[in-house]
Amino acid sequence: MNSAEIIALSDQYILPTYGRLPFCPVRGEGALLYDAEGRAYLDFVAGLAVNALGHAHPAVTKAICEQAGQLMHVSNLYYIEPQARLAAALVQNSCASKVFFCNSGAEANEAAIKLARKYGKQNGASKYEIITALQSFHGRTLAAITATGQPKYQRGFEPLPEGFTYVPFNDLDALAAAITPRTCAVMLEPVQGEGGVYPADPQYLQGVRRICDEHGLLLIFDEVQCGLGRTGQLFAYQHYGVEPDVLTLAKALGNGFPIGAMLVGPKAVGVLQPGDHASTFGGNPLACRVALAVLEQLLAGGVVDNAARVGRYFYQRLQELQAKYPFVRQVRGLGLMLGLELEREGRPVVDACRARGLLINCVGTNILRFVPPLIISEADVDRALEILEQVFCSFS
Ligand SMILES: *Cc1c(COP(=O)(O)O)cnc(C)c1O
Repeated sequence: MNSAEIIALSDQYILPTYGRLPFCPVRGEGALLYDAEGRAYLDFVAGLAVNALGHAHPAVTKAICEQAGQLMHVSNLYYIEPQARLAAALVQNSCASKVFFCNSGAEANEAAIKLARKYGKQNGASKYEIITALQSFHGRTLAAITATGQPKYQRGFEPLPEGFTYVPFNDLDALAAAITPRTCAVMLEPVQGEGGVYPADPQYLQGVRRICDEHGLLLIFDEVQCGLGRTGQLFAYQHYGVEPDVLTLAKALGNGFPIGAMLVGPKAVGVLQPGDHASTFGGNPLACRVALAVLEQLLAGGVVDNAARVGRYFYQRLQELQAKYPFVRQVRGLGLMLGLELEREGRPVVDACRARGLLINCVGTNILRFVPPLIISEADVDRALEILEQVFCSFS
């Protein structure tokens, strides 16, 4: 099918929940995507921070093929070797003690919310309030949009579940003031993604940890987007010297194969008991085998160090752009999770870049977001910046 045919068929039969761009990728390799007409694009969106190892990574393809030919699904009635091995690898490389597997970021956060509420019922207590940040994003299930501190995701879906309180991000006094006798947990993204690429201040996260300890609250970090090497450390919390009690992961974990995980530290490891939570597909042999291959690449392949190094270079190059173009308001981010806030609409920039062979993303109305594969080189950054600058030039 050509692009026009793919678009027409989609518009006829798919519910219009997405405002899609008229672009039909059909094949990928590394940081490149090819559309139905065979045109190549440098992909600095990477499936929305998912394809950390790039497209069609041989180790991922091999894991999928081998495991699909051996065993794909059996249910959690039984013990599953790739699931156990993936859990061990995640625990051995994080602050967590045990893992629950699911299929997406929203499901991982849903599990964390349930765990936090059960934690709040311990020793006869009845705590259930969870404090989250304004401009946060935690997914699209009913509880996850309620945790998400942005009304635009909630409007029309009321009544929302009770028990969520929102505070401005990076404001420790506001967080301290929001705690009530019913608070059981605080849930934050160490680097806010969807809300506009805002990294937490180190003193803020350290202060949040202290306050949680003083009040016996669980600290939940949603690293669905910023985890797994994206920021130049395996986990974003490692930049801050602050360990959460619960850590949620998804996006890059399967490099595109659906899988999510909730990692639980010592403080909350005993909370969920048999029967408390479950997922039919969560932790299936295929997803876990793929994620294990991804994690092995991230750990052994120098991928995370590459993200840190190329991320620093990218940040510098964006600062040069800021110095040259007055409509660039701010450069933000960590590693290869970068944002460029403009004093103009971002969407025309996204479209003009795509027309020149570069895929980027816009969050909010005016923040360009760059979340390329973690395997890109400085030369890829140079190529992207060349296109971005051509576009900025044409707009000024
Ligand atoms: C994408 C995202 C989610 C939701 O993940 P899904 O897999 O789409 O459910 C949750 N939290 C953060 C921080 C995200 O970026």
